[in-house]
Amino acid sequence: MPADTTTYKIFIENEWHDSASGEHFETRNPFTGEVWARIPKCGPEDVNVAVEAAHKALRTGAWPNLTATQRGHLLRRLGDLINRDADKLAAIEVRDNGKLFAEMSAQLRYLPQWLYFYAGLADKINGSVPPIDKPKMFTYTRREPVGVVAAITPWNSPLMLTAWKLAPALAAGCTLVVKPSEYTSASMLEFAALVEEAGFPPGVVNVVTGFGADVGDPLIRHPKINKVAFTGGESTGSRIVEASAQTFKRLTLELGGKSAQIVFADADLSSAVSGAVSGIFAATGQTCIAGSRLLVHESILKEFTESFIELARSARMGDPMLPTTQVGPVTTRPQYERILSYIDIAKNEGAQCLLGGVAAQRPECGNGWFIEPTVFGNVDNSMRIAQEEVFGPVVSIIPFRDDEDAYRIANDTDYGLAAGIWTNSFERAFEAPKRLQAGTVWVNTYRAVSFLAPFGGIKNSGIGRESGTEGINQYLETKTVWLSWGETPANPFVMR
Ligand code: NAD
Repeated sequence: MPADTTTYKIFIENEWHDSASGEHFETRNPFTGEVWARIPKCGPEDVNVAVEAAHKALRTGAWPNLTATQRGHLLRRLGDLINRDADKLAAIEVRDNGKLFAEMSAQLRYLPQWLYFYAGLADKINGSVPPIDKPKMFTYTRREPVGVVAAITPWNSPLMLTAWKLAPALAAGCTLVVKPSEYTSASMLEFAALVEEAGFPPGVVNVVTGFGADVGDPLIRHPKINKVAFTGGESTGSRIVEASAQTFKRLTLELGGKSAQIVFADADLSSAVSGAVSGIFAATGQTCIAGSRLLVHESILKEFTESFIELARSARMGDPMLPTTQVGPVTTRPQYERILSYIDIAKNEGAQCLLGGVAAQRPECGNGWFIEPTVFGNVDNSMRIAQEEVFGPVVSIIPFRDDEDAYRIANDTDYGLAAGIWTNSFERAFEAPKRLQAGTVWVNTYRAVSFLAPFGGIKNSGIGRESGTEGINQYLETKTVWLSWGETPANPFVMR
């Protein structure tokens, strides 16, 4: 193990602890394959301490006595601190997940907007006054925090996806136990130090680290967790639904995708080629919104495919910290092997490999886990390569005959996270979003997200929405209050 390995601690009640077992696990740099940090290996005992701390902070101490405006001040301060440390946090994320520094740095610089937006929203959470239809009664509603939130995140955009949960949860007055991915825990522990510096009271945000079975599972089953906010794979999501049924936990689930990008014959081809390349090869295809099915009108199939391959072939691979690099390594060794196995599956299914299809052997890739940008043609939408999420730099090109055919193929998937269309037709720009079964539809653009725009999936891609004003509703319960100054009813056994 290198001498400069960092050893981290977990964060509970604004204090830094070792795990109950005192054990650690190693985290590796995907570009070099080397261990660079040791992360506490927590278990159910640590989960219990963290949940108890969050439960206590919800009802007692400083947090429940802050006004909503004061909660907003704290969130704003946290946003400023993230802004101050954005490049440092981005470099840590690159060391953990191998994504481009250019991408992670842009994410970290944009991330404070979620803190600022929900800071502003904190004191605009209004109840309502229904004009009640009964004499001498007054009714109003209160919006109250849902309670203790378990926030569980994946490795591809660790802090961004945490902020999407943490900012609205804190604005609503909830407390949290955060469990980052076992592959990318370091940035969350650095982030926790900023939570403390911002002045959040003890127990409001707690971080436990470790594996899904040891930490995630006890967290989603804990009776004092009121809500689970999860981003990750479909199978983990379905396990969360089952586990949460015992105590009827509230859920927000952001799961996988198999998103279609549809290129109509009237599209601006150079924009469509560039957008389609960015949709699948940016972030090495390791995004839930990867446009991994490229539906191209048959009349432009040859021309589009040639230009697409030419641009994909020119992608510069290598050190993710270099500003010139365009495609970095795959984040984890198991993921690297999984992508290669999907490439084999596609070849065996009869798909035609038009580009890549192998691990990258370029000198600039060193010992990293790199896979060449891979393009398959001759794909039928029923093939596994077109139906299952690969989560890597692999795209399937599927021709279509007419608009109906395009919508049918695009919707023929269990997922429903996102879709993109490329067209110059005004009519299609309005018609396609209605016809496509997806939580987000981009027209002549792709991969745009904002703190103002709700994000989430339909079908197997998830439940609920994050971001925008809708995002905060996921962290609130409505309480209805009735006041009466009427006479005592003559018959107490009849409903009022
Ligand atoms: P994953 O489901 O394997 O892990 C996600 C998190 O869940 C990790 O922290 C993991 O430790 C935890 N976990 C694992 N088993 C658990 C259990 N039994 N109980 C509770 N927690 C458990 O996903 P991943 O491989 O880290 O991430 C990739 C997946 O995330 C892809 O499917 C991708 O599409 C999805 N994703 C979705 C979005 C979105 O917004 N829709 C965004 C990014 C990633």
